[in-house]
Parts: sequence; structure tokens; C-alpha cells
Amino acid sequence: MGDFLALVIMAAALGAIGLYVSAPLLKERRVEKMLADYYEETALHHLLSRKDSIYTAIKDLEFDHKTGKLSDEDYAELREKFEQQAAAVLKEIDDLQSGKRAASSKKRKTAVKAETKVRFCSACGQKVEPGAKFCPACGERV
Ligand SMILES: [Zn+2]
Repeated sequence: MGDFLALVIMAAALGAIGLYVSAPLLKERRVEKMLADYYEETALHHLLSRKDSIYTAIKDLEFDHKTGKLSDEDYAELREKFEQQAAAVLKEIDDLQSGKRAASSKKRKTAVKAETKVRFCSACGQKVEPGAKFCPACGERV
């Protein structure tokens, strides 16, 4: 009997250890997913604000050029650099958003496909509306 009790206690202890070990792991996985979501949002916000500051810088540059604070040569060089940066940021924004778009358009396509799936009655060959349970011509169950 003493052995049995020892076994029960051991099993309970192992179970407790199992819970103790797996609970934080599960929590960690959930937290990682949340972090990934936040990261995606933050990355986009970060890129958008970078884009805004580059455009602001270009405007400042134009102003300084117009008011004569900046030579044509410096203006052209700086403007080119800013435009390259802007293009790089725009590309990153596009990549981030097209990744999201690809994911959501895949979902949309599958939904559309399911809705527009045309079927035909097995008894008379009549075209049956998607989602209909009976043939409109002969009433056969489809
Ligand atoms: Zn039919």
C-alpha cells in the first residue's frame, strides 16, 4: 500500500511539474504572437512617419533652395538622396501591405469560389443555384 501511495504522490507531482512547465510556455507563445501583431502595426507606423519626415525634409529643402539658402548643386544632391530614401521607405510600406493584402485576398478568393460553385442536378441536369438544397426543375435533392 505504501508503494501505491508513493506512486500517486509521484504522479501528482509529475502532473504539477507538467503544468508548471507548460503554462508559461503556452503563455509565451501567445505573447509572441501578440508581439508579432504589434510589431507589424508598429513597423507600418514607423515607416509612415519616416515617409512623412522625408517629405517634410524635401519641402524644407525646396524652401531653402527658393530662398537662396541652398545652392542649385547642393539642392539637387540632397533632393536626390531624400527621394531615394523616400522610394526605399515606400517600397517597404508596399511590401508590408502587399504581404497583408496577399493574405486577405487569398481568403477572399476562397470565399468567392465557394459561393459561385455551380452545381447540376444529378437527376435532370438542371443548373442548381449555389446553396440550394433541391433542384428547381424536378425537385430532386442535390
Ligand atoms: Zn433536377
